[in-house]
Amino acid sequence: MSNKHFTLKGISSAAIHSGSQGFPESSHLSPIYATSTFTFDDADQGMRRFAGKEEGYIYSRWGNPTFTVAEKTIAALEAFNLKDKNGSPLQLKAMLHASGQAALSSLFLCNLKAGDKILSHFSLYGGTHELLHKVLHQSGIEPVIADLRDLNKAEEAMKNNAELRMVHIETPANPTIQCVDIEAVAKLAKKYNLIVSVDNTFATPYLQQPFKYDVDFVIHSTTKFLNGHGTAIGGVLLGRDIELMNTRMTKWHRLLGGNSNPFDAFLLTTGMKTLELRMERHCSNAFAVADFLCGHKAIAHVNYNGLSMHPDFATAQKQMKHPGAMLSFELKQGLEAGKKFIDSLQMCTRAVSLGTVDTLISHPASMSHFGVSREERLQFGITDGLIRMSTGIENIEDILADLDQSLEEL
Ligand SMILES: *Cc1c(COP(=O)(O)O)cnc(C)c1O
Repeated sequence: MSNKHFTLKGISSAAIHSGSQGFPESSHLSPIYATSTFTFDDADQGMRRFAGKEEGYIYSRWGNPTFTVAEKTIAALEAFNLKDKNGSPLQLKAMLHASGQAALSSLFLCNLKAGDKILSHFSLYGGTHELLHKVLHQSGIEPVIADLRDLNKAEEAMKNNAELRMVHIETPANPTIQCVDIEAVAKLAKKYNLIVSVDNTFATPYLQQPFKYDVDFVIHSTTKFLNGHGTAIGGVLLGRDIELMNTRMTKWHRLLGGNSNPFDAFLLTTGMKTLELRMERHCSNAFAVADFLCGHKAIAHVNYNGLSMHPDFATAQKQMKHPGAMLSFELKQGLEAGKKFIDSLQMCTRAVSLGTVDTLISHPASMSHFGVSREERLQFGITDGLIRMSTGIENIEDILADLDQSLEEL
């Protein structure tokens, strides 16, 4: 091979090739390094590795070659075609975690301490909401909640909370598919010297690259669209301050112990190779579903950020390549209709989670939010007849036919 510099022009090429070079025994794909520890040739080598003077693996909670392949790939996707302040290709460091929740835990616990506050919004993934309001709260870190889609309210919260250290944005967010303007909120946050993190799980780097703006960290639940097939739980934390990532963030990650495992990392690497193809199909199917539902007599309302009537349509158009694969809709007839609709499905999968090749449909009022009081869930727009859908990549005529026959049953 020549060592000519060759820049990849397309993101699928990056997804397929970024992590995959130089495997032992001429292996085409990454081996699954199922090992807890790594050997040293002699005591001196052990010493050099511990001192950071020699590259090399030591112990799999600290790092593993199968993780590295996935980490390099995700970093390449999030940085794809982006430049740093000096105009050079943006460098990012990714740290693979056991789950999206583990990545969020590292992110928050490494950057916040007792007495600090963190600003976020109402519409958040359930686990993130509880992490902020239970775990962080109990550790003396106060969540401040504001509608970050309203820049006046966002700035007011930043101005009025001297202890604020960080802003955490999730966009698009569950289950109303609300979108926050990353560029605008990050700009405000920097005026007040705040750390900015974005949960990019719903969008993936194919649809949205938060590092284009003044964002410090991005997290993903790789369980969803990045893996794409629902084969493993996983998470990733990415940062642009490589020095910080290599020191304090690495230390915290190792000590908190939220490491991935080689088999799940391998499944993730395999899944990511088809990210662009899958996202294109996920999104075009979602668009067709939203269009179909909008005209249906049993439907009261459709939440999809690709519809011009969605309040965040303009924000989605600005920062996303396509509006995404997630949508929710409200049945006119409420709770019993919601259950009946779900029970009548013939092909679509009845399940929570999202981002798999099959269409996943859930009914928050009887499933994910069953334990939440009716009053509280109505406040967040989770009505009795709300159905959430992660649009899959099946043939669109079958998805539409399944929805149609289920709606006929009502
Ligand atoms: C699923 C999800 C998480 C949590 O990820 P896990 O992999 O389940 O731990 C966090 N944020 C968002 C937006 C999610 O969808």
